[in-house]
Amino acid sequence: MKYKKIVVLGSTGSIGIQTLDVIRSHRDTMQCIGLCAGSNVELLNRQIMEFCPKHVGLAEAGHAREVIVGKGVSLILGQSAATELAQLAEADIIVNAVCGFAGTLPLVAALHAGKTVALANKESIVCANPLIQNALKSGGRIIPVDSEQSAIFQCLMAGRRSDLKKLILTASGGPFRTSTLEEMEHAGPEQALNHPIWNMGKKISLDSATMFNKGLEIMEAAFLFDMEGGAIEVLLHPQSIVHSMVEFIDGSIIAQLGTADMRTAIQYSLTYPERIKSEVKPLSLFDERPLTFERPDVARFPAIKLAYAALNGGNALPIVYNAANEAAASMFLAGKTGFLDIARRVEYAMERAQALDFANADNYEAIVEIDRQARRLAQEKV
Ligand code: NDP
Ligand code: MG
Repeated sequence: MKYKKIVVLGSTGSIGIQTLDVIRSHRDTMQCIGLCAGSNVELLNRQIMEFCPKHVGLAEAGHAREVIVGKGVSLILGQSAATELAQLAEADIIVNAVCGFAGTLPLVAALHAGKTVALANKESIVCANPLIQNALKSGGRIIPVDSEQSAIFQCLMAGRRSDLKKLILTASGGPFRTSTLEEMEHAGPEQALNHPIWNMGKKISLDSATMFNKGLEIMEAAFLFDMEGGAIEVLLHPQSIVHSMVEFIDGSIIAQLGTADMRTAIQYSLTYPERIKSEVKPLSLFDERPLTFERPDVARFPAIKLAYAALNGGNALPIVYNAANEAAASMFLAGKTGFLDIARRVEYAMERAQALDFANADNYEAIVEIDRQARRLAQEKV
């Protein structure tokens, strides 16, 4: 495999740490030349010691004095740190593992600079699709890291695009898959963050419990693979072994299977189109429980139905969906609203946004403004 110089944005998060784990196991072909964190200086310092990157970024400039960098290392501070590192001339791959809307500008900048982006951050795709499509014209490309999108990306190679019928996204169903509405109404953060399969960052764990994560992924898939909402199906698959599937017009369904370990998708995004050996425990289908598939219950998980509505409602509604969910999710984690209120707040924000006829979101300033208003609407609902 060609030697790859990699920049990791969001290196101190769940995906960032696992990306460094992959790089650590393949030092013969991969080198980390840039690291960027939000505020966790202690972990960032340990990563700097181990990987000796030439470029370091920290979004929270207030912690600058605690960062330990050697001579000749460039240290970039402030909210634009990730965006600057995303454009490094010497980088072959930019891993965007920043969480939330903050991942948007780094993605757009990297694509404008013609970079290959291994993209974990889904909020950017959902909120800024017009900007991203425009930036892609500069010659950059996106290799998905999100396990469902990585699976689809791989499955699509089995046939011609013109013969594709639909995308089938799998979902674990999260901790409340079998809970009643009554139980969900009274659920607190501890139960909601207790994901049965994946060990992830806080925000995405909560999004898995509400299934807003799957809603975001419906839109992510629609934008990444240029598909209509009607051609994207969601299937509950509690074992998380089948990571997603595609169906062709002859009825053939192609699936990608593997152990529930994000390092498989992360590694593939770094080695694509090649494959190399991995540290991930191989899947033994003999030892797996039966693989089961169910329809999601939209009454208990309105996030799914709201995502299709957002996708069909023009380019402002996906931003409203994402921002209102971020705001309501923070309120829930702070004990200020109930679990089922998260979806109620998002639905309210979407209805109000439609009534107010939010502007067309085709530039960054408009996106930021819609994001701001949607957060306010989500907080306003009683
Ligand atoms: P985490 O919350 O664990 O990590 C987020 C990372 O982003 C941290 O390193 C954080 O720094 C950094 N960060 C936050 N704000 C900024 C900023 N303004 N500039 C630079 N860095 C910043 O999130 P995850 O790793 O779970 O998720 C990252 C993305 O990947 C999300 O979009 C998520 O939806 C997606 N994803 C995650 C999966 C998972 O398994 N975790 C699976 C599929 C997709 P610090 O901690 O130092 O403040
Ligand atoms: Mg996913």
